[in-house]
Amino acid sequence: MRLSRSFVPTLKETPAEAQIASHRLMLRAGLIRQTAAGIYAWLPAGWRVLQNITRIVREEQDASGAQEILMPTIQSAELWRQSGRYDAYGPEMLRIRDRHDREMLYGPTNEEMITDLFRQSVKSYRELPQNLYHVQWKFRDEVRPRFGVMRGREFLMKDAYSFDLDYEGAVVSYRKMMLAYMRTFQRLGLKAIPMLADTGPIGGNLSHEFIILAPTGESQVYYDAAFEQIDPASGEFSFDSPSDLARFYQRLTTPYAATDEKHDAALWEGVADKREGRGIEVGHIFYFGTKYSEPMGLTIAGADGKPVVPHMGSYGIGVSRLVGAVIEASHDEQGIIWPDSIAPWKAALINLKSGDAACDAICEEIYHHVGADVLYDDRPDRAGVKFADADLMGHPWQIVVGPRGAAAGRIELKRRATGERSDVTVADALQRLG
Ligand code: ATP
Ligand code: MG
Repeated sequence: MRLSRSFVPTLKETPAEAQIASHRLMLRAGLIRQTAAGIYAWLPAGWRVLQNITRIVREEQDASGAQEILMPTIQSAELWRQSGRYDAYGPEMLRIRDRHDREMLYGPTNEEMITDLFRQSVKSYRELPQNLYHVQWKFRDEVRPRFGVMRGREFLMKDAYSFDLDYEGAVVSYRKMMLAYMRTFQRLGLKAIPMLADTGPIGGNLSHEFIILAPTGESQVYYDAAFEQIDPASGEFSFDSPSDLARFYQRLTTPYAATDEKHDAALWEGVADKREGRGIEVGHIFYFGTKYSEPMGLTIAGADGKPVVPHMGSYGIGVSRLVGAVIEASHDEQGIIWPDSIAPWKAALINLKSGDAACDAICEEIYHHVGADVLYDDRPDRAGVKFADADLMGHPWQIVVGPRGAAAGRIELKRRATGERSDVTVADALQRLG
């Protein structure tokens, strides 16, 4: 994309309403604009990042065997009355009436809807297990929307729902998601800590929140430093092997248990290097048994012909919150530092002298070769402005084309994360950028 023709409205000034780095940088780099309290429009750069994150989330869900669907944002109140949650949910639910005065709502989550879809179509134990997911906008009328997309009212979530015949099966489904989540966060360049979460009245210990360490995070977390050595993508763990999954779960949770203060001191026995910090919740997984299947009358025929009530779990990832969380984890004084996997553009192409024949020719050549993955700064502005904007926007690479080098067919490549620069030929640069 040519920057002179793009809708990437960067800001020089720090917006007064933004309290944390990611919110400031998302506004300054032109990723988002607020349209109402806690509701944001995603501009081209932000939308590209959101789509890149969604793609990685989707690939890892698919790899785990989950199937993608798309459920609506608007739901009928009737379904939520069947589970008993319509009255229980409280003012965070946005309630709507249609022209026939029927009660509707903008979904804050989809357990009721998926249970209804499942009970309409699945009749036999042979069809289980299944895990269905979608990536869809949610609305929660948060008391205090803040920190930009980190705590919005409208936000994008990946939510998956598993159905199994019994507890043992549900545990396998749960562990699959745990592996898929750890791989997802690793690909996003994040270290996520699975923290044992409160299961409330349901009991049991099968709920984990995934926490990214960041000083501005809203959650307090205690964790074992040894945790950092686990590599979920190592090929050691397969989705198809329940014993691999059990081993993976074991390694992640004991003794590398991460908890908040409420949980048992015994978990920390044998932990040599206990650390504490603040973090951002980017995912939450939950086994809840028959909490919805039972009241909503979801039964299927078991192997012996008797009715079975499926055991369910739900698994959320805050896709839009992740954009903010990645920036919290990866930025400096100058701006964002995107991991290669989700950057809106692989590189900024900086023409230091637009109008100079040699500079223009080299830039056009690179632009045509790298194509849509490069943001070509062809504006007539000063070099300083272009460098500052490229640092702010956080492209992993900067390709700098100036008149002196251009005359000799050479350009400079700068790596945003390290500041490392190298003087290379055009051919070398093209090869390195793929
Ligand atoms: P929180 O404790 O942060 O309010 P939650 O426990 O209510 O979140 P879940 O119902 O577990 O959220 O939703 C799954 C994921 O969706 C969360 O882990 C989080 O990443 C994301 N999420 C939840 N609420 C918001 C929000 N208001 N804005 C952005 N993302 C959100
Ligand atoms: Mg949660």
